[in-house]
Amino acid sequence: MKPLDEARADVLSTMPKLAAVRVPMTESLGRVTAEPAIAREALPPFDNSAMDGYAVIAADTEATPVALLVNEDVAAGSVPTKRVESGTATRIMTGAPMPEGADAVVRVEDTESSGPERVTIRTSADSGENVRSAGGDMARGDVIVDKGIRLTSRHVASLASAGVDPIVAVMPRVAIMSTGDEIVDPSTETLAPGTIRDSNRVLLRSVLTDLGVPVVDLGIIGDDPEALRAAYEEAASRADVVISTGGVSMGDYDYVKQILGELGSVDFWKVAMQPGKPFAFGAINGVPLFGLPGNPVSTFVSFEQFVRPALLHMMGASNLLRTRITGTMGEDVHASESKAVFLRVLLAHDTDGSFVAVRSGGQESNMHSSLANAEAFAVIPVGTGSLSAGDAVTLEMFRWPEGRSIDE
Ligand code: AMP
Ligand code: MG
Repeated sequence: MKPLDEARADVLSTMPKLAAVRVPMTESLGRVTAEPAIAREALPPFDNSAMDGYAVIAADTEATPVALLVNEDVAAGSVPTKRVESGTATRIMTGAPMPEGADAVVRVEDTESSGPERVTIRTSADSGENVRSAGGDMARGDVIVDKGIRLTSRHVASLASAGVDPIVAVMPRVAIMSTGDEIVDPSTETLAPGTIRDSNRVLLRSVLTDLGVPVVDLGIIGDDPEALRAAYEEAASRADVVISTGGVSMGDYDYVKQILGELGSVDFWKVAMQPGKPFAFGAINGVPLFGLPGNPVSTFVSFEQFVRPALLHMMGASNLLRTRITGTMGEDVHASESKAVFLRVLLAHDTDGSFVAVRSGGQESNMHSSLANAEAFAVIPVGTGSLSAGDAVTLEMFRWPEGRSIDE
């Protein structure tokens, strides 16, 4: 058996890198930056008020109360026309440019207006108080987002604030197909004897959509050598990466192995992990191919451990793997010592706020019921074996617990 880390390193080392392209910031969510995004102007672009109030010379307010003459009103979006001289103040709104001469803003709550021309300041201001300086957030030339970052909604907002369209990796097109004579369309009204619904392709489509990757869906291919050959060739001609599920283990009617063997340079691995031990990886006409095991949970684990990091690597992402944290196992579990075991778990909070993991249901690799609600894998490394309740355990988070109920 091949250790998981070694298998993953082998996969990553052969993945091609994708080209870079500049995209509008509004279309950059989920893309990976190929170059640092650089601020082309200072932010804020000008000194402005952080409060609704009066722009003053701080020294004028040392002794309060003090009455000042009001020069003018400046709203956000307009520009002051008068300099603030000693003994005067300018009424100013949040976000409006600071008038020349002023170095502080007194909040409207700390003043008393005595007609449009006069204001009484009741609280002293320090120089710089309630003023947002030009460049205080970012200077021109600052790195807004580093290279290799998958852009979140907050990154996109930062890019928008600085007017920058980022340079990102082109998205890989990924072809997917399910294989197996027993597999039928998931929307089939009534299942014929011996058939099961195709959940793998729906899973793959969903996880790829989550990654923002365009999908080429080749459907379900029966256990038929000619159909498989045609499908793999079509997939390789239309996509940057091919993923199929099923047919990579030991079965008698599994032509996938035979066809992949004929078409390309594909290796059949036994990875020291559970689920997901059988796994095919290689290339068809130079296009990377992932042959994932057919059991739905194995498909998911293999996708998480191999395909997702490989796609992120192609995009040039710095962080390829999911966040891992340490939690506590909430129950005794038996696990193989010779393989890395990935348990599907649900997380509860201990009294000290740390996570306690319990299995989300049966752990057989065909069991959807425990996959649907799981939040993390409890990862039990090779050589560890069984764990007892209370033992520390590594949690690989593929979904942070879905919020809190309003009653908590
Ligand atoms: P295989 O790897 O082809 O031997 O399949 C292993 C197990 O996974 C069998 O029980 C298959 O019926 C099941 N399986 C294969 N493909 C799918 C699929 N697309 N959706 C759901 N189950 C599948
Ligand atoms: Mg099969």
